[in-house]
Amino acid sequence: MFIGHFALGFGAKVVAPRVSLGALFLAAQFIDLLWPTFLLFGIERVRIEPGATAVTPLVFEHYPYSHSLLAVLCWAVVLGVVYGLRRRDRIGSVVLGALVLSHWLLDLMVHRPDLPLSPWGDTVAGLHLWSSLPLTLALEVPMFALGVWIYVRNTVALDGAGRWGLLGLVFFLFVIYAANVLGAPPPSTQALAWVGQLQWLLVLWGYWVDRHRRPLVPA
Ligand SMILES: [Zn+2]
Repeated sequence: MFIGHFALGFGAKVVAPRVSLGALFLAAQFIDLLWPTFLLFGIERVRIEPGATAVTPLVFEHYPYSHSLLAVLCWAVVLGVVYGLRRRDRIGSVVLGALVLSHWLLDLMVHRPDLPLSPWGDTVAGLHLWSSLPLTLALEVPMFALGVWIYVRNTVALDGAGRWGLLGLVFFLFVIYAANVLGAPPPSTQALAWVGQLQWLLVLWGYWVDRHRRPLVPA
């Protein structure tokens, strides 16, 4: 799942108009933003095995701190509380926390049974939609389109940056997704982890676009 997480980030604007798109992306993708750094430090492990699933060649061997349900609940509380204290925005804080948790629930739908429930136990979960590329696309692409549509409907561009910056962002996300799904497997886990860091740019892009658009709903 990739653009499906961003879909929820876009769509959440309708319930939290005061929260920047960048913050919504940060929350929806939070555990996948932590994960590459945990890989680089050797705290978590992944293996590249072409053909492992119909969609991704990644075999998630060990990722209890970014992707176990219990850890994700903790990250959700941390992000929600930090935001709530800084911005004094209770709705925003709840929405961001829910977005962090949403990542795990969406991953649950697509991953093989490899998502741990807690960092210590052996119980893993995953409904493995990634066994089918058409089914994965049938879920994720309409989700993404719907999320973008909700964001566009609930905000208005203040200038060219708000209009074309958003179009560029949507296009870029789609291209990365296509490359992920259809392209060659990453050459190494090191390369994967470094490229994963580039996701922070998507968060910054979200902040930038949102600054050039205004919510239509009164905040
Ligand atoms: Zn994930």
